Amino acid sequence: MTELGCPRQRAVSPGDRDDRAAAATGRVVSRETGQGAAAPPALGGVSRETPLRTAAAGSTESPDTADLPMAAPLRDELSAVVSRETEAADAARERVSRETGPGDVSAAHEPRPRADGRIPWARPQARRLITVANQKGGVGKTTSTVNLAAALAQHGARVLVIDLDPQGNASTAFGLDHRAGTPSIYEVLVDGKPIAEVAQTVEGFTGLDCVPATIDLAGAEIELVAVVAREGRLNKALAALQTPYDYVFVDCPPSLGLLTVNALVAAQEVLIPIQCEFYALEGLSQLLRNIDLVRAHLNERLHVSTILLTMYDGRTRLSDQVAQEVRAHFGDLVLSPTIPRSVRISEAPGYGQSVLTYDPGSRGAVAYIDAAREIAERSVVDGAGEGSGS
Ligand code: ATP
Ligand code: MG
Repeated sequence: MTELGCPRQRAVSPGDRDDRAAAATGRVVSRETGQGAAAPPALGGVSRETPLRTAAAGSTESPDTADLPMAAPLRDELSAVVSRETEAADAARERVSRETGPGDVSAAHEPRPRADGRIPWARPQARRLITVANQKGGVGKTTSTVNLAAALAQHGARVLVIDLDPQGNASTAFGLDHRAGTPSIYEVLVDGKPIAEVAQTVEGFTGLDCVPATIDLAGAEIELVAVVAREGRLNKALAALQTPYDYVFVDCPPSLGLLTVNALVAAQEVLIPIQCEFYALEGLSQLLRNIDLVRAHLNERLHVSTILLTMYDGRTRLSDQVAQEVRAHFGDLVLSPTIPRSVRISEAPGYGQSVLTYDPGSRGAVAYIDAAREIAERSVVDGAGEGSGS
């Protein structure tokens, strides 16, 4: 159960610029892990009209940024120029039917043929950069990142996972070496090391790489405080990445600090896992507000593209109620499949594996494959990834 996979490491490909930046010390920024005011499960003031996809125009209300649990210097910067967008979401996207087959892929890249007989899914026109975020802890961010990435890779996509959490759980789940001192995302953010030099291949998959996180990353939020454009470090590193990944997933820590802000600045899409439990929606309005702020001031292409219901327990009415409420509120942003609460899912990381390799036929594995397929299908319907460069 506690056995982890053998450490492996391989540089993926060269080619990135090495613009070393001085690691500087500065004001200590506490790593916030929660938020003060408890939002009611009914999502408090976040309306369905909260802009989720497009950079919005009109500002009708000034947010109280003083409460944002972000790195203080960034919060100050943002609060100086803040505007709360209230444009209605253009959520009129066509609902993607789960029955839509991978054959309907005219707009996407040709799927790569596979030796294992699996039918490849549509690949996006350009790299899709998806940040998996929710400052609430233990909601399934890492589990979803790992298993969605694994499912996409199994179906012909080239996928990179960036572990942006000092806990290094995604690295553990992939069986990667992430002891202190291992070349990791820390060196990318603080020293400007190219991503390709620290990415490791994930055993058992073709086309799946992961940039591990070590405990060193815990100091990065402090060390980056005095660095110029500290919130854009990951974005810069990804812009220089030559490897033609179809998907890049960033697994965020349970906070809205500088690491998460870096992930939001680098991404086009945010995937929010929501646990089907009481309090599941608590803090969500805070996350959405921060996404609005980042979109308004740092990254106009950022939008919430996907919501995934996790740890669904069909035996409880509560799970059903939460799922219904989330679907009523977020509509088509919510993926059709829900991820069931499953022992197999929780056991897999202890063996350094995704649930797809640990128990391929289990309900959890099937649910993650279904969810990943829908994400791939949205590449076709939405043209996600277009224009993002790869
Ligand atoms: P953190 O905020 O600490 O990074 P997280 O949001 O990444 O947490 P996970 O680490 O993915 O959450 O999941 C939290 C715990 O719940 C883990 O022990 C994981 O194995 C377990 N878990 C996740 N999804 C499921 C599931 N569908 N069924 C059962 N257990 C699950
Ligand atoms: Mg995690």
